[in-house]
Amino acid sequence: MTEAEPKKAALKLQGVRKNYGQVVAVAGIDLVVYEGEFFTLLGPSGSGKTTLLRLIAGFERPDAGRIELGGRDITSVPPHLRDTNTVFQDYALFPHMSVAENIGYGLKVKGVPRSAREKRVERALAMVRLTGLGNRRPNQLSGGQRQRVALARAVINEPEVLLLDEPLGALDLKLRQEMQIELKQIQQEVGITFVYVTHDQEEALTMSDRMAVMANGQIEQVGSPVEVYERPATEFVAGFIGISNVLLRDGVRFVVRPEKIRMLAEGEEPAAGMTVEPGQVEDVVYVGMTTRYMVRLDRGEQLVAVRQNMDAVGDAHKFQGRPVRLAWTADHTFVLDKGR
Ligand code: ADP
Ligand code: MG
Repeated sequence: MTEAEPKKAALKLQGVRKNYGQVVAVAGIDLVVYEGEFFTLLGPSGSGKTTLLRLIAGFERPDAGRIELGGRDITSVPPHLRDTNTVFQDYALFPHMSVAENIGYGLKVKGVPRSAREKRVERALAMVRLTGLGNRRPNQLSGGQRQRVALARAVINEPEVLLLDEPLGALDLKLRQEMQIELKQIQQEVGITFVYVTHDQEEALTMSDRMAVMANGQIEQVGSPVEVYERPATEFVAGFIGISNVLLRDGVRFVVRPEKIRMLAEGEEPAAGMTVEPGQVEDVVYVGMTTRYMVRLDRGEQLVAVRQNMDAVGDAHKFQGRPVRLAWTADHTFVLDKGR
């Protein structure tokens, strides 16, 4: 999507609510997702992500509110008549069918003739990098390959919006990271609007054009990954995405991210304009690429500072228990919304 094009809404939610008995699962959500966007719903377990996705898919009816897809009110339209498809973490492929049959099944049900179907299945296989594996059975594939079949099976229907509920959740870390990149590439190739659910902050930051951070059935903030990380609107967002160091100085509450804090060496002069506060290193945690320093400021709060492990890291632990000075610049801090 280029900046010049006017953005068209693929999906529009207005005042959408859903209760289960006493539990408020979705507490009145307004949201616009634009055509061709990779849009992520990010939030902790129980924040209402799956319920919201099921409302969009039509598996649940909202207690209040309105859902529009491509400009059409679909609030009361049953799931099979909505131009959406859903990919779940449990991809539930048909075990007795080949990969190609699994992918083409939806088209077959719709009565798409065999030759047209086979062409589209071939294209879908290529798109998810599974060319040549169409004759295999699902149990002859790896977990990542099976998840790609599930994706192809949904994308082949060319839905207006593809809904994905933690689709990579069952994969191990390395495969998940590879699939994050691939999934994003596939989304860009097919140009379908994705609404993607995850509780994984890094996944959301890596993949999304924009994201909504959810808590308690509500949206705390909507924005690009950079906006949400660099300028969190609430303390919840600041704490949920990345480590948040919250300080109160002169009546102002603000956050400074660990990677923006400089640990001054002994005798080192801070750059002009930096705020400097003394403290003591309470803990040193080696995390591979980086080392985390938990510093107790003399004024009381604990801050986390992070340093990249550029050199051998054998000396990081010598900081344990030592006095340090932390320094940061005002433009690397952000004031928290005090309205909430
Ligand atoms: P998430 O996907 O973010 O983990 P869910 O949408 O699954 O959150 O759940 C939101 C809230 O609604 C939770 O408190 C959950 O326990 C509750 N909930 C979800 N589905 C049901 C259901 N079918 N019956 C009763 N409560 C439910
Ligand atoms: Mg869920």
